[in-house]
Amino acid sequence: MRLFIPNEYHKTIHDIDLLKLYDLGKRLILTDLDNTLVGYDIFLPTAEIIEFKKNAEKIGFKLIIISNNRENRVKKFADELGVKYVHKARKPLKRNYRKISSEYKNNEVVMIGDQILTDIIGGNRMNFYTILVDVVNYNNEKFGTKINRFIERKILRKYKIKGEK
Ligand SMILES: [Mg+2]
Repeated sequence: MRLFIPNEYHKTIHDIDLLKLYDLGKRLILTDLDNTLVGYDIFLPTAEIIEFKKNAEKIGFKLIIISNNRENRVKKFADELGVKYVHKARKPLKRNYRKISSEYKNNEVVMIGDQILTDIIGGNRMNFYTILVDVVNYNNEKFGTKINRFIERKILRKYKIKGEK
């Protein structure tokens, strides 16, 4: 499998069929924060995100935020939501994925994110089930992320990832 191809693509996290994932044997959901759950300028979980978390836990998932952003941003959001988190995760490197998912088999883990070059490649390298979602809001993205977006657009076009769904 190509490392940058996600298992699923959806417009938002709310379009993901969590019951199906549970039936597939998935038990841990790792999710990116910025532009996956909310935009960069939203500091606390929205009602929709709180609902998503409650629903995931009701089904039987554990939810953990894995973010490359700095601690004060990630901690504030995760604490308010009531989930564990990893900050400065250095996705797509494997180290922190491995650490945070150590109680699970790799095929029980789902990785959700908006960036192919960090979230999806990292998740695929771990043999996690990867789900790409659309960016919540392009405002305030860092320079490095903008460069990643440029490469990402080429990959999305070349492999028609979004067109296939
Ligand atoms: Mg992101």
